[in-house]
Amino acid sequence: MDFSRLVSLGSRQIAIDLGTANTLVYVPGQGIVINEPSVVALEAINGAQRVRAVGGDAKILMGRTPDHIRTYRPLNDGVINDLSIAEEMIKYFIEKATGGRSVMSRGADIVIGVPSASTQVERRAIQAAALNAGAHEVWLIEEPMAAAIGAGLPVEEPVGCMVVDIGGGTTEVGIISLKRPTYSTSARVGGDKMDEAIIAHLRRKHNVVIGPASAERIKKEIGSALSTPESMHVVGFVGGRDVALGTPCEVALTQADLTDALHEVVQHIVETVCAALEHAGPEMAADIIDSGIVMTGGGSLLRNLDAVLGDETGLPVRLAEEPLTCVALGAARALHDPEYRTEFYAV
Ligand code: ADP
Ligand code: MG
Repeated sequence: MDFSRLVSLGSRQIAIDLGTANTLVYVPGQGIVINEPSVVALEAINGAQRVRAVGGDAKILMGRTPDHIRTYRPLNDGVINDLSIAEEMIKYFIEKATGGRSVMSRGADIVIGVPSASTQVERRAIQAAALNAGAHEVWLIEEPMAAAIGAGLPVEEPVGCMVVDIGGGTTEVGIISLKRPTYSTSARVGGDKMDEAIIAHLRRKHNVVIGPASAERIKKEIGSALSTPESMHVVGFVGGRDVALGTPCEVALTQADLTDALHEVVQHIVETVCAALEHAGPEMAADIIDSGIVMTGGGSLLRNLDAVLGDETGLPVRLAEEPLTCVALGAARALHDPEYRTEFYAV
């Protein structure tokens, strides 16, 4: 990507989706200029830590590093588990998106989508990191709000609408009306828990240990929230290590196996949504019965998750058109409207 081109066009506004699994940067007029894993690799040299890689280059290193390099996902639970590493990551992505710090010193206005579960301290820290990277102004927007705008929901109307954003570390549910989240909640369940459930299943049923990257791959390839008559015949393969023999091996899994493995995680997501529905006032509940639920985030791409959620809630459920980019797109749209700028913290 030619970053100098972005700069020469003088874009002074950017929107960032700081996800637990992926960070996206959207520049109005350009679209998404960065879409990389939220991963940082640190290297210990003579007792000091230094950033070895960020984003895609760091994710490749996960599970494959020598002892002196460690990889981190600074936001993996939807809260920041390491502030200084999160700050390094935010700075890196802002600088990459804007062509470097010297240019940024002119200052850009930045809106950042943050997990609704993040604390005031974390929000201030995210804002400070962006300001340190040279931003002029930094606004925060809660992810369910950004997801709803990005999914094209009628958030400006006096009508309740519901968005369920299933990311890597969290599932965020928002009920929105008149540009405000009237209720939002976040549970620590999402794509990562699905991967962990697949790993546990293989260990228990096949006595084989597989890595998270293999689990994620097979989930995307053949995973399903629901078994259909064909599920017995949809087969995928994963490589791992046989626990008893200690040797590399390959296991064949059917889609039905994966539905089994994922059952509890899917139920946890369903319960999170049902709990949020119980918090909707009667008028809002009536609106949601009409408009249904919109799902966003990568986890919503699990096959048949929309059908299961629809069955369990009795509501119409649909997948957003671009589930993985809704938050970035929605945050970018919010840049133009000061009314969305509720989350401003003076540093
Ligand atoms: P976050 O906002 O937390 O960064 P994302 O919305 O980027 O998360 O979603 C990442 C999650 O979505 C990962 O757990 C990934 O494995 C999962 N995911 C992406 N594509 C698919 C798919 N086709 N099927 C199932 N899960 C998927
Ligand atoms: Mg997200």
